[in-house]
Amino acid sequence: MATTTLSLRPTIYYPSESRGGFIDDISGIPAAIFQEPGVKCSCGSKTIFKNKYSFTHVHIKSKQHQTYLLNWNKRGTQDLIKTCVDLKKETRTQQIAIAERDKTIRTLKTQREILKPENERLRNELDACKSQYEELITQLQEENGLFKRKNTRLSDTNEELTKKVEGFTESSKTGETLAKHLLSKLGYDFEE
Ligand SMILES: [Zn+2]
Repeated sequence: MATTTLSLRPTIYYPSESRGGFIDDISGIPAAIFQEPGVKCSCGSKTIFKNKYSFTHVHIKSKQHQTYLLNWNKRGTQDLIKTCVDLKKETRTQQIAIAERDKTIRTLKTQREILKPENERLRNELDACKSQYEELITQLQEENGLFKRKNTRLSDTNEELTKKVEGFTESSKTGETLAKHLLSKLGYDFEE
């Protein structure tokens, strides 16, 4: 009897039950299975057999294996049934573990799908914020330029006005001097 557990694990070989007791029958395991994933013998040998020929002609003739086979015959069917039940239990545990892992993967995939539109929305919002910010910067730069030009114009006007005031002061001084001169000619005295 041969039992395959998970695909990448080696196939485990068990003796087969026949009318005369337990015998070695390797006919059920193709040579390709020996190549990949390999075969482990239930006799307790740690070797993973990769060659059907050497397994058939060397291993099952070894003392360890022959003693094992003899024990199978001594213990009888009851032990075989127990082994089968144990293996079924192990397979079930592995199936549950695989199902749980698959469930986790599905949950993660679903979460990713749910988060996708949210992520997209946030990215769009960020893009919108960015262009608004850029617009604002441009606007501020333009306003700043406008203020600078206004400021220059005000300085010019200020300069012009200062010159005019200076001009008035000058002509006013000239007028005063002229008035004093005329009045002194007319006989008025001035105390400087
Ligand atoms: Zn063996």
